[in-house]
Amino acid sequence: MGFDTSGLLPLSDALQGMLEQLACCCDSEQLPLPEALGRVLASDIASPLAVPPFDNSAMDGYAVRLEDLASGTPLIMAGKAFAGQPYQGEWPAGHCVRIMTGAPVPAGTDAVVMQEETQADGDRITFLAQPEPGQNIRRAGSDIGKGACVLPAGTRLTPREMPLLASLGVASVAVRRPLKVAIFSTGDELKPVGTPLAHGDIYDSNRYGVRAMLARMGCDCLDLGIIPDDPAQLRAAFIRADEEADVLITTGGVSVGEADFTKQLLDELGEIGFWKLAIKPGKPFAFGRLPHAWFFGLPGNPVSAMVTFDQLVQPALAKLAGQRFERPLQLQAIVAEPLKKSPGRLDFQRGILSQGPNGLEVRSTGSQDSAVFSSLSRANCYIVLERERGRVDAGETVTVEPFGGLLL
Ligand code: AMP
Ligand code: MG
Repeated sequence: MGFDTSGLLPLSDALQGMLEQLACCCDSEQLPLPEALGRVLASDIASPLAVPPFDNSAMDGYAVRLEDLASGTPLIMAGKAFAGQPYQGEWPAGHCVRIMTGAPVPAGTDAVVMQEETQADGDRITFLAQPEPGQNIRRAGSDIGKGACVLPAGTRLTPREMPLLASLGVASVAVRRPLKVAIFSTGDELKPVGTPLAHGDIYDSNRYGVRAMLARMGCDCLDLGIIPDDPAQLRAAFIRADEEADVLITTGGVSVGEADFTKQLLDELGEIGFWKLAIKPGKPFAFGRLPHAWFFGLPGNPVSAMVTFDQLVQPALAKLAGQRFERPLQLQAIVAEPLKKSPGRLDFQRGILSQGPNGLEVRSTGSQDSAVFSSLSRANCYIVLERERGRVDAGETVTVEPFGGLLL
């Protein structure tokens, strides 16, 4: 799709090339707040309230007027204010009001003095320190002003947003419908778990990884299973996925092996680019359009499939789903043991990041072969090694990217 595929395509170019073509394709619907968990906001949420809605006390103590304290004599307690039960009575000069955390401060209050800074003798309260004006008062609107945008469109609702929205009295929200993603694995050698293996067979692991990542992203998954390397069955699966889903993700069959019919078929059905990415693992990758759905063809090697999904497909799906997406932070760490690397591709080695005596330390999980799954399952981060970098010696500094929500 307009890319030079003769050489190796840098990851950033591939990502940019995809994102430029994609736009949100999910309509919005109104859902009650509890059902909206995991969904993506379709519009900004403006606060219908000021938060807090009234001036209230940050401490258990006494509401005072500064002029009453000027003489230094004890004040008489006029009454009490509790959370949910404001003080209603008169507040004569020379008096204070006993107040609890969260209670509205009575009109005229200049400060709340915490209980620990007072001495009570019956109703006579002695103040041990002179309060600052406004002390221990949470002002109305100091957290969120009325009408302020509290959450922008594109926010995925996590447990962190739910109490925030509830605190504003938001009972229902406009959210995007989930992105519908069809998936299948290709390969004559693949068998589903729970069935015996004949000689030469392996279990289909990619589909379980891709499904799990789609679930983490809140996508609806249409799992079409394993499709053998057979043009007629592949064609039927592509057509079904295209008719029923927004996106199709396949694994395997995008390299130049003998049994890779995918390219041929996709050239006929849609407009698909076959890329050789300048990343390791994950060289072969296909992206493009079927008549109705977008298509992502991941490499068959299990680690490559996971890494290309995480690095490339995740941001693309987020855009289609209307979700704002930010990559996890990248940090610097000291390499504890040498790392093998040859120049030419951007490496996403799998590493174990830990706190060492002199700061963050990282080591490789062992064999970085893209078929070795333990390299991924034992890791907690990528060690991101620049394209032109060669072997890395112990003690050198490298960039690490702790795994984000998709892999945790
Ligand atoms: P391919 O890209 O189809 O040439 O596959 C590359 C390698 O990944 C081969 O060793 C395949 O057997 C393996 N592979 C492909 N798909 C899967 C899968 N779904 N699960 C596990 N391994 C796979
Ligand atoms: Mg294959």
